[in-house]
Amino acid sequence: MFKTDLEIAQECVMEPITEIAKKAGISEEDLEVYGKYKAKVSLDVLKKRAEEPDGKLILVTAINPTKAGEGKSTTTVGLADGFRRLGKKAMVALREPSLGPVFGLKGGAAGGGYAQVVPMEDINLHFTGDMHAITTCNNLISACLDNHIHQGNALDIDVNAVVWKRVLDMNDRSLRQIEIGLGPKANGVERKDGFNITVASEVMAILCLSHSLMDLKERLGNILIAYNTKKEPIYAKDLGIAGALAMIMKDAIKPNLVQTLEHTPVLIHGGPFANIAHGCNSVLATKTCLKLADYVITEAGFGADLGAEKFLDIKCRLADLHPSAVVIVATIRALKQHGGVSFEELKEENVDAMLAGCANLAKHIETIQAFGLPYVVAINEFATDTPAEVAALENWCKEHGHPMALSQVWAKGGAGAETLAQEVLRLCEEENHYHPIYDVEESIEDKIFKIASTCYGAGSVVYSEEAKEQIAMYQKRGWDKLPICMAKVPTSLSDQATLYGAPKDFAITVREFRPSLGAGFIVALTGSVMTMPGLPKHPAANNMDIDEDGHIVGLF
Ligand code: ADP
Repeated sequence: MFKTDLEIAQECVMEPITEIAKKAGISEEDLEVYGKYKAKVSLDVLKKRAEEPDGKLILVTAINPTKAGEGKSTTTVGLADGFRRLGKKAMVALREPSLGPVFGLKGGAAGGGYAQVVPMEDINLHFTGDMHAITTCNNLISACLDNHIHQGNALDIDVNAVVWKRVLDMNDRSLRQIEIGLGPKANGVERKDGFNITVASEVMAILCLSHSLMDLKERLGNILIAYNTKKEPIYAKDLGIAGALAMIMKDAIKPNLVQTLEHTPVLIHGGPFANIAHGCNSVLATKTCLKLADYVITEAGFGADLGAEKFLDIKCRLADLHPSAVVIVATIRALKQHGGVSFEELKEENVDAMLAGCANLAKHIETIQAFGLPYVVAINEFATDTPAEVAALENWCKEHGHPMALSQVWAKGGAGAETLAQEVLRLCEEENHYHPIYDVEESIEDKIFKIASTCYGAGSVVYSEEAKEQIAMYQKRGWDKLPICMAKVPTSLSDQATLYGAPKDFAITVREFRPSLGAGFIVALTGSVMTMPGLPKHPAANNMDIDEDGHIVGLF
């Protein structure tokens, strides 16, 4: 019987965070300690090291994920530990988990097995309070907006054209659509509203794309919150609260320092949803790591069609980052699912289905090639993989000329990543020709077609009437020259959740756009995208407990 992620994490004897900071090269004056094992890192580190060269940036992405996730976080953490074992100065930049999913389906965002980030309980629960700050910042806009309408509505806000929603860090389906202001007049103006989960808030995306506190303030002020009765846009700054919004975020903007089970320094900061937002940790955390370490390993949510595309087309473009190599994680289980095997039968050996499922892997490899980057396929080994399946996958990679390495970090920690680390080191020395796949100056339709055809294999893009009207409106307002943030189901290359494998020449439908003008991108919604998840019939919360000594069980 395997130990749970939580049991393994609880066995770890952590080093004091001050020691981890020393290892990372962070001075005492740039460290704000939150207890023994967590700290915030001052943004001064970036300023002080502005003239120093950056380390190499390595992105971990994956094939289209199955229900369980493919082990991107696990591989990211294990690979950094593997680098350290080779004597290299490596750091990890990761996203912060959201509380909502913690209580929903099993699965955290702090890695797994012997490749995890600790203190695991804290990271998955309230951590250093960043989620709280983001929630409050988001909801201050809502409170001030409704108060403004109640107090005479000088901005002439159309109560039926408010686009800003409240947020909560909880999976709570009953808050998706609500009515507010019910009751006596003193309770404000009645209107329909709704809640998103905190990680789907534009405030989260803004935190993750900001370069400084002043940049954050400007972006928060530029959030589109409503239209007036003349259909003109109203921004958060029109309420006169940009300063207050930035103030709430004064600590949240600083990256959080923790460690892996093998004491490699890690910055965990920001965790935007990978559907409605861009799905990567903060630019500030990535840039700070690049100044502190020679090799920085980071990940982007879901498969390369969503996470890597947005990392490379949005984050790297807006932050002027130039990645050196990409690790594409695949599991034999997921490849079998892409080859037609049902979730329940994934434990059975099935070489043919796995080889059929390699079409999905091939598509994601093509995507990374289209961005001009060197890559390696990392096979995240599961105990259920059979020698015949592993051999067949190794052969497939060899035949098609794809570099690959078996990764055993879940079972062995950094020791299971040494081959992968050697391969990534080699790739980092290769010349690469990274470039985003579209130019922001192109039309919205051209940008979306390039993403859909290059990264999904789509043959055409269909627009709803509403989407067409929005495009015309955005062109008039000059909002069309921004990067596109695609919102799409993660399990398929297409916009249909169960179309596995590598469908070809399908049509993808854009139903609606949402301008995230503070973050600096236009969200294109395809299919049905959930911005407030619900809990399953048996929430993971039912398995959790704490005893009088504060010992937690069942968290993962
Ligand atoms: P992703 O980042 O792709 O969502 P994670 O790294 O968070 O995936 O892993 C998801 C879950 O799968 C975790 O609970 C982790 O322990 C588990 N997992 C990852 N790799 C393996 C493996 N090789 N064997 C068994 N479980 C694994």
